[in-house]
Amino acid sequence: MLLTPGPTPVPEFVRKAMADITIHHRTPEFEAIFAETRELLFELYGMDEVVMLASSGSGAMEACITNLTHKKALTINSGKFGERFGKICKAFDIDYSEIKNEWNTPVSVESVLEAVKADSDIDAIFIQLCESAGGLRHPVEEIAAAVKEYNKDIMIVADGITAIGVEKIDVSNLDAVITGSQKALMLPPGLAIIGLSNDAVSKIEKKSRGFYFNLATEIKKQRTNTTAWTAATTLIIGLREILSNIKNNGGFDALYEQTALRASATREALLAIGCEIYPKTPANAMTTIYTENAPAIRKILKTKYGVNIAGGQDHIKSLIFRINHMGLVEDNEASWAVNTVELALDELGVRTFDGTASKVFSTKMFKGN
Ligand SMILES: *Cc1c(COP(=O)(O)O)cnc(C)c1O
Repeated sequence: MLLTPGPTPVPEFVRKAMADITIHHRTPEFEAIFAETRELLFELYGMDEVVMLASSGSGAMEACITNLTHKKALTINSGKFGERFGKICKAFDIDYSEIKNEWNTPVSVESVLEAVKADSDIDAIFIQLCESAGGLRHPVEEIAAAVKEYNKDIMIVADGITAIGVEKIDVSNLDAVITGSQKALMLPPGLAIIGLSNDAVSKIEKKSRGFYFNLATEIKKQRTNTTAWTAATTLIIGLREILSNIKNNGGFDALYEQTALRASATREALLAIGCEIYPKTPANAMTTIYTENAPAIRKILKTKYGVNIAGGQDHIKSLIFRINHMGLVEDNEASWAVNTVELALDELGVRTFDGTASKVFSTKMFKGN
């Protein structure tokens, strides 16, 4: 049972759709598939423009840094992925400053506003909707609203790699929202997507940058249902399949609702057996538990019960475990996961097993309280 917050399991109907013969990307057949996928992405994002890139999510992060920073970037670092935005700036010699917090702590609206007011060179802000390193939700929409009120020309770039497909995002003040294929979209890795505002498109067109990740070139091509370079045809076919499946089975809002319910049922169940939630503001993409027993718990889950969950990275590598909620996770899988954590705590002599986790999960998930 793969319950890591990315990669997530690829559903069988998606694997089947991707098993067909490879079609040439410069054909009317593929252009029709591309057009349909684009339409579905417009529905998913609710933004003015959208581009697909043949890369992992980090490629889209790089494209946004290079194409949307014309002067100086402000990066928000509450974990591995926020830190990455800064590393990209460094690699391209792009001027940036960073607001750094502990991995369980969201950035405050005030500190971002203060930073942009103190430095008029900042023309783009880079932040995670969900910082996956600790499962933390940043107040991105509030920050975006406050910054836009101060200066509407500052670009707000949100990494939504573990947020798009998880929850409804208010994109009204966002200029770019990034996602990747292997998290909530349940595809193999290798495809990145960026939703863009008209303001972002204008800025990109004013000064186009780079070659492979030149967004001006991509926008122009993708508006005619083709790509600048060879498209990731198989992954795009898979993307059309997963998005139309979600749409035809209750729609995106129903998926967000199920994910939110599963996340809160999981959290309540784990709190009830004495677990500590790591982030101060948890995102619905995953549940992150802080415990020194994390490695031992993960080992028991994997070897004894066949449940694969994630640990941490860097300084909290062996201090947290993360359970995924993204995608089409079955209720019985999530229920089994909390039950096995309770069994592991019993085996480790932390707490005697009495079925509490399972009971609390089911009561919340299926009885609604
Ligand atoms: C996984 C992840 C990334 C990195 O994406 P890759 O596809 O590994 O390049 C970036 N940001 C967040 C929030 C992620 O969860």
